[in-house]
Amino acid sequence: MAYQCKQMDKECDGCGHCQEEAEPCPNCGGQGYEVQYFLENEWIGCDQCIKRRFI
Ligand SMILES: [Zn+2]
Ligand SMILES: [Zn+2]
Repeated sequence: MAYQCKQMDKECDGCGHCQEEAEPCPNCGGQGYEVQYFLENEWIGCDQCIKRRFI
């Protein structure tokens, strides 16, 4: 999967210094999350904005 390289202004070719850039959370807009939360198939938030939610 192609993604932007953090070292160079181009697509990463697997330099090992970067990872796929996280999509901004639809709820808080943050990219520093480690967990994405889904309701049905819809991404509703991440561990940065939803601590724990029981449904
Ligand atoms: Zn890279
Ligand atoms: Zn979030």
